[in-house]
Amino acid sequence: MPEVKEKENVDVLARTQQVIETALTKLGYDSAYQELLKEPLRLLTVRIPVKMDDGKVKVFTGYRAQHSDAVGPTKGGVRFHPDVTVEEVKALSMWMSIKCGLTNLPYGGGKGGIECDPRTMSLGELERLSRGYVRAISQIVGPSKDIPAPDVFTNAQIMAWMMDEYSRIREFDSPGFITGKPLVLGGSIGRESSTAQGVSIVLHEAAAVLGIPIEGARIIIQGFGNAGSYLAKFLHDAGARVVGISDAAGALYNPNGLDIEYLMERRDSFGCVTNLFPNRMTNEELLIQDCDILIPAAIENQITEDNAYLIKAKLLVEAANGPTTQGATEILTKRGIMIVPDVLASAGGVVVSYFEWVQNNQGFYWTEEEVNMRLKKILVDAFNNVYQTALEKKTDMRLSAYMVGLKRTAEAMKWRGWV
Ligand code: GLU
Repeated sequence: MPEVKEKENVDVLARTQQVIETALTKLGYDSAYQELLKEPLRLLTVRIPVKMDDGKVKVFTGYRAQHSDAVGPTKGGVRFHPDVTVEEVKALSMWMSIKCGLTNLPYGGGKGGIECDPRTMSLGELERLSRGYVRAISQIVGPSKDIPAPDVFTNAQIMAWMMDEYSRIREFDSPGFITGKPLVLGGSIGRESSTAQGVSIVLHEAAAVLGIPIEGARIIIQGFGNAGSYLAKFLHDAGARVVGISDAAGALYNPNGLDIEYLMERRDSFGCVTNLFPNRMTNEELLIQDCDILIPAAIENQITEDNAYLIKAKLLVEAANGPTTQGATEILTKRGIMIVPDVLASAGGVVVSYFEWVQNNQGFYWTEEEVNMRLKKILVDAFNNVYQTALEKKTDMRLSAYMVGLKRTAEAMKWRGWV
């Protein structure tokens, strides 16, 4: 992996630890709380041997981090990506604690990752890797211990293989072991589009606070994967003008609006579509084009001190995890640009994962209306809570989200007598 990426992940962890410390201090919790919450409670590194299609064995490194189980079992996705590092997985598990805290789910945060490039692997190799990962972590996961889910480059098929492997190991059907499953295996209606639904709900709330009408609003979305593509569709359907989108190959920008339905139809299974257009620009160029609302929906560290001064949007909604560095957050806040932080904006996925787990546990399944109505209520309440806390405590929205999100974990730790 390039050294720069490795260093970025170390920075992501350090900046998360820094915000956690500031949030706990502002809430009045002493250093014991900080000591316990600055690292995951449990971290497992595994080596997974996989027989590749050419007959050779390749060994992959994977991780599972469980940040805090003070509130309940830990919860969070598993990412398959060549740039996965232990620091990144740790930081992501902390963000899951905050997402679950903000939305009042009975979970703490967890996260997993495997260093691999699924774009170069066959389905058979991916299946063997997914099953191998579950065998390697099976001791520490389970429906009331730690519940995985999809994340970058993992999907319902991978969740299905993982659930099947876990059920075989335990020798009973265990749909509640993992969320983001296909509907026929106990998935929830609405889970696949839930991250985008959630982003859209909080974006509407934030736009209303700022007085930006959604009808006709010019929106740029960086990333056209699961979150980005659904979001483009939802916002387009709501009357907004999606003027820019991007993927790993590049970006498209048209001030008159893009044909989202056409782009969605043409994208491949890794969310790539811009490679079909010779007149594309780079991802970096896209971020600084003219728009009202900018939505980074790809990966970490996209908005930094180098480009924060050049951003034209009035509202930044972080659909990706960790797209904005701390320095950039400060610059944007000073420039009066509202940031709806990742831990709030991208929480829709885990909220519907929770619904899926509840439905698995009770064996009774909800309608799409029930899912959407409950999701909306939870996220509107979370947005208002974070926004009001930011106003009252005179903080930026990221710090207030951490304060709201961590308070419950800290209180649970106190009641349990850990601190
Ligand atoms: N991977 C998603 C996230 O980062 C969803 C996690 C979950 O559903 O548990 O929020």
